Amino acid sequence: MTTPSSSPPPLRSPGQLSGDPGMRTVVVATHNAKKAVELRRVLVEEGLAAEVIGLDECVSYPEPEETENTFEGNALLKARAAARETGHLAVADDSGLAVDLLNGMPGVRSARWSGPGATDEANLNLLLRQLAETDDEQRTAQFVCAMAMVTPDGREWVVRGEMLGRLVLDPRGGNGFGYDPIFVANHQHRTNAELTPAEKDAISHRGQAVRAMVPLLRAVLEEDL
Ligand code: IMP
Repeated sequence: MTTPSSSPPPLRSPGQLSGDPGMRTVVVATHNAKKAVELRRVLVEEGLAAEVIGLDECVSYPEPEETENTFEGNALLKARAAARETGHLAVADDSGLAVDLLNGMPGVRSARWSGPGATDEANLNLLLRQLAETDDEQRTAQFVCAMAMVTPDGREWVVRGEMLGRLVLDPRGGNGFGYDPIFVANHQHRTNAELTPAEKDAISHRGQAVRAMVPLLRAVLEEDL
């Protein structure tokens, strides 16, 4: 078992495994260090023998455009590229907010909803303008996260987590990111941005997807090398 390290692991070449012969490497296909840290934490808690690295910690390669119109499709595009280019078991997620009044938009376009150079703040403000004049009960929405796992020999799995709730027009709270300040999950009174990270993890789309992926990861990691 590995423990979280405060200093980043060294760069690796494609196909190069950890010095520990019992240790498999998992690449999380993201430049978001927080996602790699989160997955590393879950794997350690689950007692899985894996070294988790993010894209900033391995060889660079041209990353695929997110051209699919489903979360699952985009997660698979990212995981396939990472497995192919690094030679490691790869995990990738794609997530977003689906607003019922907007027929599921911003959906897979959540990160770039306000156009080129979009920021979380600009995206949130655009969505608020689009939802102005709507009634409370009309503003139902879901956060969705698809998580894909691809082995270097091309086997693929995808799991999905969803968090149902509704949107408020007055942003509240300083935690989280993206649309969290206007999302209130079912059975909650606080927005996601008012929840602690642990409270959000316990109910979030991403938390559910990670927990669904763990048994699949365990099975692949326990295969013979
Ligand atoms: P990505 O999966 O990191 O590409 O995130 C896609 C976009 O969806 C983010 O930029 C946010 O706008 C939105 N999003 C995804 N998950 C969350 C969340 O947990 N809270 C708030 N916004 C989110």
